Amino acid sequence: MSTRGWLPVRDQDFSLDNLPFGVVRPPLGPRRVVTRIGDYVLDLAAAGIEPQLTAQPTLNALLLSGRGGDVRARAADVLTGRERLDLVHALDDVDVLMPFDVRDYVDFYSSLHHATNMGRILRPESEPLLPNWRQLPVGYHGRSGTVVVTGTDVARPEGLVAGADGVPRLVPTDALDFELEVGFVVGGPPATRISPDDAHHHVFGAVLCNDWSARDVQSFEYQPLVPNLAKSFATTISAWVVTFDALRPYLVAPPCQEPAPDPYLRATRPWAIDLHLEVDLNGTTITATNFATMYWTFAQQLAHITVNGATTRGGDLFASGTVSGPTAGELGSLMEATWQGTRPLELADGTTRAFLADGDTVTLRGWCGGDEPGRPRIGFGDATGTVVAAPARRRHAEEA
Ligand code: CA
Repeated sequence: MSTRGWLPVRDQDFSLDNLPFGVVRPPLGPRRVVTRIGDYVLDLAAAGIEPQLTAQPTLNALLLSGRGGDVRARAADVLTGRERLDLVHALDDVDVLMPFDVRDYVDFYSSLHHATNMGRILRPESEPLLPNWRQLPVGYHGRSGTVVVTGTDVARPEGLVAGADGVPRLVPTDALDFELEVGFVVGGPPATRISPDDAHHHVFGAVLCNDWSARDVQSFEYQPLVPNLAKSFATTISAWVVTFDALRPYLVAPPCQEPAPDPYLRATRPWAIDLHLEVDLNGTTITATNFATMYWTFAQQLAHITVNGATTRGGDLFASGTVSGPTAGELGSLMEATWQGTRPLELADGTTRAFLADGDTVTLRGWCGGDEPGRPRIGFGDATGTVVAAPARRRHAEEA
């Protein structure tokens, strides 16, 4: 337990070294911007910290203002100053809510191991990577309005799936999957043509991101463009936006890129994040990997998305793409872990899964540090969702 500050901090993922931002609804009163400390939250507006930015129902005013670093530093001052129990709520006493209104949501495809696995599964007769993959960070615009906070149930989506006779029919997906990703939240004023070396000035923080995917719907709809309804039904993020300042001690060099990309994608000081990631399915840990293995970095993604003059908006969410490492225990989707359902996974309860069943709970977890002295744990918390059955109302069309 930490001895710094006046609150007992039992959960070392959320010590004074972290202080992520989120939004809660206290027992009395409206939604508030808070920072998490252990199993408590500090009401920033009640503490007199930038109330015009923090007495708000979302983080958007704060992340647009560019004042996140100042607010976080003042929160640390309050938490290490004179005891003020009137400014905190126990986490159990508040509703933890969606932290920000997502503006544009962009999903990338930046893991070499994931892209290679997907190529081998979907195009076994050809080169696993398409010719553009090592030249630019491939991505597409997702649906921002269906990004939901951890704890939100996810209804099994329906979509057109080609049957054995080749005829597509509207059915509940039989191949529901998760994708382990890290999402970067853009802050500050609109910006364009951002250099990879300047990207960190435009990061408000990061969250965990589960890009739920219906593989059978995806395989019928995606050519020649990109996935659409196979992914737009829901994307789950963690509730605490971990600031770039908290992550700074854990920046490491990303993998070497061969061939070197175009100069607009080259950083003189490239960075990745040494961030341990795990996936639990119904309590069985099925994946453990590290975000530092990603081939394309967030800085390159931001440079790429703005190189044509497109502008950022505070509240944009950039998902990294599925994070898969090089070994069998590091795969960030069931598509890879079960090789498109052909090699089912066995869970601790003795059941097996090719894809997700109704009632299944998927939990992403992530943290930096905690491995040696001087490297405190910086936790992201959970991004959890439980699959519920597809709404019954659509089934009658087929049966009528
Ligand atoms: Ca994805």
